[in-house]
Amino acid sequence: MSLRYGREMVSIPGPSTMPDRVLSAMNRAMPNIYEGELVDLAFEMVERLPSVARTTTGKPFMIISNGHGAWQMAINNTLSRGDHVLVLESGRFAPAWGAMAAKGGVEVETLPCDLRSAVDLDAFAARVEQDRERQLKAILVVLTDTATSVMNDIEAIGKVLRDADHPALFMVDCIASLGCDVFEMDAWGVDITVAGSQKGLMVPPGLGFVWASPRALAAYESADLKDGYTDWAPRMKPNAVYELFAGTPPIQHLFGLREALDIIDEEGGLDAVWARHAALAGAIHAAIDTWSTDDGLSFNITDTAARSNAVTAVLTGSIDPVELRGRAQEGAGLVLGLGIGEIGEAFRIGHMGHLNPPHVLGTLGTIEATLQAMDAPMGGSGVAAAAAHIGRFL
Ligand SMILES: *Cc1c(COP(=O)(O)O)cnc(C)c1O
Repeated sequence: MSLRYGREMVSIPGPSTMPDRVLSAMNRAMPNIYEGELVDLAFEMVERLPSVARTTTGKPFMIISNGHGAWQMAINNTLSRGDHVLVLESGRFAPAWGAMAAKGGVEVETLPCDLRSAVDLDAFAARVEQDRERQLKAILVVLTDTATSVMNDIEAIGKVLRDADHPALFMVDCIASLGCDVFEMDAWGVDITVAGSQKGLMVPPGLGFVWASPRALAAYESADLKDGYTDWAPRMKPNAVYELFAGTPPIQHLFGLREALDIIDEEGGLDAVWARHAALAGAIHAAIDTWSTDDGLSFNITDTAARSNAVTAVLTGSIDPVELRGRAQEGAGLVLGLGIGEIGEAFRIGHMGHLNPPHVLGTLGTIEATLQAMDAPMGGSGVAAAAAHIGRFL
């Protein structure tokens, strides 16, 4: 007998759970794309997007793509062949973004990390200090790395650049956790913010976002990697929706995005959304803390301050993560994220976006039941710890 029944609970780090309201808003016939509601909607999104990245001076760009397409847009509109950029490694995604830039002829240097902690601020400051000739054209870093589940201190990294009065463009990939982890584009001196629709922003994959500061817009003028499709020029001052998207607009996604932004506003804005993510991540962290044993589960990220509120990578020690995920999925209909990158045997829990206590406790309870079924080592009941944590907010 299997208890797997009904809707699967998918607790992977993106695509995240989509609100029914978003899915319903997307379920509609094709409208006129030259005038009327769709046109108003597209320009309404242009008006509303800056606040999502906490910028008033940054300009938002949308691209019909996943996060990789938004990465490409950010690179091609700001960098040139032969530019020297520094990638701050903290997992898998910043190096992949750097590799994309390298394909275009950018010289990429990497500040390495140990995959279990955030960017080393002292090592970064030393590298910036050493760059007396100001050769570093840009810094590429992620807010949260979805493989290691580390959250970098973007504010502190920005402060290193400002204290050194270094002109490098500060480019931050927020794809994993915009709308989950605190992020302040203007206040932290960020020049490029990149995001995708399908994680914290609760819209199906297919829409990418880039926010450009005035400094990034100035860099556009001399960038020589500009290409036909991602070029900001027609998108900058669009006369029609057709120019905003360099072609036919992503109609369903625009309706979905408006609904998602309404949902964020109704909750009380980003501050309220961040607080909910912190509370629910606290429950997940409490469970893992309690489960942890020397030969069993443990956090990949050891420093509590460097753990993301959107995703958690759990090392599995002597426990087989393939069996754990398989039994949870086949036996109970819970889908967990597989471990990716070079962090060793692991699984990941996504806790981003449209997330509530029943989702979190259901995920944790099913993991605990699976651990028991496997006779796996466990320090104690993680579910009890998570419930106690969530109880403090009820
Ligand atoms: C998901 C993710 C990406 C890639 O996004 P796609 O939509 O899969 O292209 C890049 N960076 C980070 C940090 C991510 O979490």
